[in-house]
Amino acid sequence: NKATRQAVIAGNWKMNKTRPEAKALIEEMIPLVKDADCGVIICVPYTNLETAIAATKGTNIKVGAENCHWAKSGAFTAEVSADMLKEVGVEYVIIGHSERRQYFGETDVTVNQRVRAALDAGLKVILCVGELLNEREQGITEEICSMQTKIALAGVSKEEMKDIIIAYEPVWAIGTGKTATADQADEVCGAIRGVIAKLYDDATAQATTIQYGGSMNAKNADELLGKVNVDGGLIGGASLKAPDFAAIIAAAS
Ligand code: PGA
Repeated sequence: NKATRQAVIAGNWKMNKTRPEAKALIEEMIPLVKDADCGVIICVPYTNLETAIAATKGTNIKVGAENCHWAKSGAFTAEVSADMLKEVGVEYVIIGHSERRQYFGETDVTVNQRVRAALDAGLKVILCVGELLNEREQGITEEICSMQTKIALAGVSKEEMKDIIIAYEPVWAIGTGKTATADQADEVCGAIRGVIAKLYDDATAQATTIQYGGSMNAKNADELLGKVNVDGGLIGGASLKAPDFAAIIAAAS
């Protein structure tokens, strides 16, 4: 149950911060989050990975990338493989973010291939699912999120689920300042937990960390994180400001 699951707050920096900016932000963050009771992850652009890994060494902040390719290597210009990330020292990778699905043509199938590649390389995955506004208006939110979850996890074993965090991110709430209500977030996170229970078993479902993402901030974090099925957050905009990110982490602790 919620008490035994680890809450995890992850920052998604998206396409922000040069290396000096990244270093400065991390240095500001370290003292503010050092006593966190929850897991703390920052997912940063590829160019910032080495900087972030060096700057977080010996701290409680873990580093993730924002995507990886499904192939081991090859003719995939501009892509980065999971093995490359692992070798750099990355622990986590976001897969299936809605911006990748919307602007870069990723599908449930390529998301699944990337999840598989990440696990095979020994990375932990933050798997993003979420409905579009028109899907919510049509009343098919749970179907969409269930389908995305099932396809993304095809071929993932029960044992491997310990390396999967799911982030429920309603697309209409991302970067818009429009947060899902705490009840909406809880409902869909709960439905996704139900999908995990069906795919695997109850114990696996109860042990899986399911985050909410979409305009979570220092003000609304308390209420969202208080919900029984919401085990943390994937934070975009508010993760770029150390005090805001720290306040969300405090709310999760
Ligand atoms: P946001 O982004 O917090 O800026 O809405 C969340 C995300 O895209 O992961």
